[in-house]
Amino acid sequence: MTVKLDYDYIEENLILQDLTCALCTDPLLEPVCAQQCGHTYCRACITASFRRKSECPTCRLVLTLDDFHPVYTRSFLNQLNQLLVKCKFCSEENIQRGNYEDHAKMCSKKPVSCAAADLNCPWTGRHNKLEEHMKTCPLMQVRPMIVELKEKMKRQTEQIQFLYTMLEKISANHQETCKEDYSGEAICDVCDESCSHNGSNNGLHYCPQTDICQKCLNKYRP
Ligand SMILES: [Zn+2]
Ligand SMILES: [Zn+2]
Ligand SMILES: [Zn+2]
Ligand SMILES: [Zn+2]
Ligand SMILES: [Zn+2]
Ligand SMILES: [Zn+2]
Repeated sequence: MTVKLDYDYIEENLILQDLTCALCTDPLLEPVCAQQCGHTYCRACITASFRRKSECPTCRLVLTLDDFHPVYTRSFLNQLNQLLVKCKFCSEENIQRGNYEDHAKMCSKKPVSCAAADLNCPWTGRHNKLEEHMKTCPLMQVRPMIVELKEKMKRQTEQIQFLYTMLEKISANHQETCKEDYSGEAICDVCDESCSHNGSNNGLHYCPQTDICQKCLNKYRP
């Protein structure tokens, strides 16, 4: 499995084999290691490999994915972070791999997307054009409002859900001790149709003479 990276390694053939993954043959990314055999792989590579077979791909020892733990050895991680890479977008060379993310944030040629991409703004472009786009993007102008509305709606749905849960609970508790004697028929207070008021219809009933049929309950339930 080869991950698509935004950089190329410089002089990849000179990189120590200890720093590479036997599965993708590239320098390790998020290295994980099994204590039982000491073999180390990229997290993504070993995860993909275990989907096919539950063994260490090098020594064939039967293991589970949980046997692979992140490598924390500082000197080892430092060596990986210090590998030199070249940015695929601006061609700047000799960036330490560990610093590439910082470079990518500033890279003048890496395409970035609009902050309203979550509202389906299709714009992508160079970093230095982003600010200009965002100033005129119609979605950016309504974005704060939409985000606020979405949050409000989510909150209201939760509140309604809470009230329904309460009403159903109160109704169910009441029906256990209800002394009212309907002979099986009641009138729904919402739709005026007749319904049976006992607990079997999953509608709501409170005393005195308050009934909501199952159809109405389902219609308004969030
Ligand atoms: Zn790998
Ligand atoms: Zn092994
Ligand atoms: Zn760059
Ligand atoms: Zn936009
Ligand atoms: Zn009804
Ligand atoms: Zn009752």
